[in-house]
Amino acid sequence: MGQSTKYIFITGGVTSSLGKGIIAASLGKLLQSRGFSVTIQKFDPYLNIDPGTLNPYEHGECYVTDDGAETDLDLGHYERFLNVTTSQSNNITTGRIYNNVITKERKGEFLGKTVQVIPHITDEIKSNFYKLGHDGKYDVVITEIGGCVGDIESLPFIEAVRQARWDLGPGNFLVIHLTLIPYLKAAKELKTKPTQHSVKQLLEAGIQPDILVCRTEYHLPPDVKKKLALFCNVQLNSVIEAMDAESIYDVPLLMKKEKLDERVMSKLKLSSKTHADLEDWKDFLGRLKNPTQEVTIGLIGKYVSLPDSYKSIIESFTHAGAAVECKVNLKLISSEEINSENFSSKLDELDGILVAPGFGERGFEGKIETVRYARENQVPFFGICLGMQVAVIEFSRNVLGLEEANSTEMDPKTPHPVIGLMEEQKKIDQMGGTMRLGSYACDLKKGSKAALAYGKTKIQERHRHRYEFNNEYLEQVESKGMIATGKNPNTGLVEIMELKNHPWFVGVQFHPEYKSTVLNPQPLFVKFIQAAIDNKKQK
Ligand code: GLN
Repeated sequence: MGQSTKYIFITGGVTSSLGKGIIAASLGKLLQSRGFSVTIQKFDPYLNIDPGTLNPYEHGECYVTDDGAETDLDLGHYERFLNVTTSQSNNITTGRIYNNVITKERKGEFLGKTVQVIPHITDEIKSNFYKLGHDGKYDVVITEIGGCVGDIESLPFIEAVRQARWDLGPGNFLVIHLTLIPYLKAAKELKTKPTQHSVKQLLEAGIQPDILVCRTEYHLPPDVKKKLALFCNVQLNSVIEAMDAESIYDVPLLMKKEKLDERVMSKLKLSSKTHADLEDWKDFLGRLKNPTQEVTIGLIGKYVSLPDSYKSIIESFTHAGAAVECKVNLKLISSEEINSENFSSKLDELDGILVAPGFGERGFEGKIETVRYARENQVPFFGICLGMQVAVIEFSRNVLGLEEANSTEMDPKTPHPVIGLMEEQKKIDQMGGTMRLGSYACDLKKGSKAALAYGKTKIQERHRHRYEFNNEYLEQVESKGMIATGKNPNTGLVEIMELKNHPWFVGVQFHPEYKSTVLNPQPLFVKFIQAAIDNKKQK
């Protein structure tokens, strides 16, 4: 471990969904604004090696990093807040820890020994805690421990945190416990007991939290703070109130007001490298909260009942909307509910249409109807991954007249496989981590909508797919006005499709949403919103 690197661990108590990821990202932002280099990692207690094999309904979106890791969606928050990239090392699951230990056991690395949770699993966890701090690149490594204190499955992580205190030594180690202070309407009281219990559980595991961050719907009166400090064994000024915020992007400023960064710096004996500077952030918030115009955009997908499935897309609209001072009313519409009879009642009010990424057949025909509507009615259209593939299929069926055109994902026997399995995918028989993943180059056609948006012709974007456009149909498709405006320079794989005679119709095989951050809104989202604004004006 890097000697000078400071480690902050964030645990959660009382209930899940308190927003540990946002607190971690906000603290990271505040420390970064004071000149420290910061990274954030997440340790998840489940047994999957990574969330890539999870249904979005289980765990929300699977976030993909440059190096092609399929990770927890909190890594998206880390990147969006800190404007730095993360990697496989930033997201570790129990499954990966056990897999590593068992692989070592088979290699004979523990020859003669009984392999046990303590020390072998906890050692593996700790070596992963310290991995990003090794080369001294970061002043601070923040580690978010997924799940809730007291869960059986997070016990080895909690034990590893306990041991880390002794590895790292005083002044280099800090635990922040995020907890909930519920308000009982009938009693008109904020209750501290659940927090007392969850801190007690931490203490039983040998961990004394240094700071409590208390999620609450009402301000914490001084007597409640005092009670928490007394019963939970923390300094009074280390009981931090975290009121519900209007937007997740308000949280860094709220935490600054509550002096979370100052408490952390004083406990870790860190002195600010520069004057805290959040001007860019405040500027973003100002534009976000004072829009001068408004558009309605439809996000058509099949996982809409859990908006977290589309987290990065939703956040990309927030960043891009703020960039052009436009409020984006995003309507999540289930593609299963769209058919050839009702499409116009579902889509007429939209100024722009986005067809989302996805897998499998369910809701597919609704997506075809949606693309047809956008194409024929000149409504700005943005297709992402499966969304681009649907656009190609719709065009092949309704413009080229290839009625049964399809992706071999939906119909393996289609006579017109305009979308097919990538060559390297054909020999793959394992599902986990085997898609075409991570960052690849793409060359843009000069003068295309994409090149105009990016302001350059060489880009890198992140991917997560198995199927691709079948280049055997390229000539036919282009001759009727659907143009491949982005291609991988090495393989010729089509990355972007645009329609010639349409105000803004762009389908991308990659996932632009993974690279949108507060300070770097994604250019295609910005241009798509502008096209929607223009469309609204013309209506
Ligand atoms: N199912 C499609 C494929 O694997 C699209 C994937 C996606 O939208 N991420 O190619």
